[in-house]
Amino acid sequence: MARVSVTKVGALPGGPPPPAMRAAVFAGPGRVVIAQRPVPALGDDDVLLAVDGCGICGTDLHILEDPPGHPATPGVVLGHEMIGRVAARGPAARGLSDGDRVAVAPNLPCGWCRFCKLGAPSHCEHLSALGIFRDGGLAEWVTAPASACHRIGEAVPTAVAALAEPLSCVLNGVDQAQPLAGEVALVLGAGAIGLLFVAVLRASGVRCVVVEPVAARRALAERLGAVAAVDPEAVGAEADLDGLLPEGADLVVDAVGSQLAVAVPRTRPRGRVVLFGMDSRARAAVTQNDLTRHEIRLLGSYVGDHAVPRAVRLLESGLVDVEPIVSRVWPLERLPDALTALRAGRAVKIVLAPALNPGA
Ligand SMILES: [Zn+2]
Ligand SMILES: [Zn+2]
Repeated sequence: MARVSVTKVGALPGGPPPPAMRAAVFAGPGRVVIAQRPVPALGDDDVLLAVDGCGICGTDLHILEDPPGHPATPGVVLGHEMIGRVAARGPAARGLSDGDRVAVAPNLPCGWCRFCKLGAPSHCEHLSALGIFRDGGLAEWVTAPASACHRIGEAVPTAVAALAEPLSCVLNGVDQAQPLAGEVALVLGAGAIGLLFVAVLRASGVRCVVVEPVAARRALAERLGAVAAVDPEAVGAEADLDGLLPEGADLVVDAVGSQLAVAVPRTRPRGRVVLFGMDSRARAAVTQNDLTRHEIRLLGSYVGDHAVPRAVRLLESGLVDVEPIVSRVWPLERLPDALTALRAGRAVKIVLAPALNPGA
């Protein structure tokens, strides 16, 4: 995979940003366009970032369904998994210097609602998010509150650094499951999120078994350290899982969003189920008494902005090798190709790098 080295002609270092930029704009249900937009104005607490790379996430695909599977503000610049370099700072922006390379925690809580005050900012009643309700990182430039930006080392390749945000969400799920070294996990789904769970759990001393219908993704799961990856559509899959998990899994991760009824019977008594994938249409037929009788704990898991600093440290440490998760690094102009490849399951994670030549 191509390493991206980013130099912006006529922008950094030192000079002012140009007045206009290319950006991927959400143009209403099912539509995104690459358009010229003004470089965003700097708020008092903001920094202006020259974007190095921005991942495309399942949430972006949901936003672009018609009707939308996830809300977003029409006209907004998409992209919430961004890495950039500080080019300018608002008068009240603290803690960063020009030229710092940062990962961005994209969810912006209000700070004053009852859930913010309860210490649960990801459940803020007025939660905003870069790339969803406010302009995001699928653009040459983006502004973000300085408090949402976390320095990341230069040695981390852009494609890997762009995984900091999804990794932070996965760390929030892993934290809730509290894995112990020597345990066995069953991970349902080996998209980017399932694969990140495999990487983190394995680094935590947990053996991972994966269930995934796409062969290329099963191969990736094994490359990231899963002890086995089972095709649920293959003859004998259930017997294979019985053999791999004779006592049931200590923890099961649903990285799909619709697998609760699969997860519960595979969970050992007093085991944990992490519900990570999001599908508002999914309805699960589970026998409630199984949960009661086996004292199974269900753990919902949403975003993890508080875990971005740890995600950055983990990527810098080299303790997890997550580079294989990024299938492609493409210029911004290839967004339509990227969406097609992701929808068809031909790619796991695609990162767009606005500074790459459009012909790359
Ligand atoms: Zn995302
Ligand atoms: Zn709030």
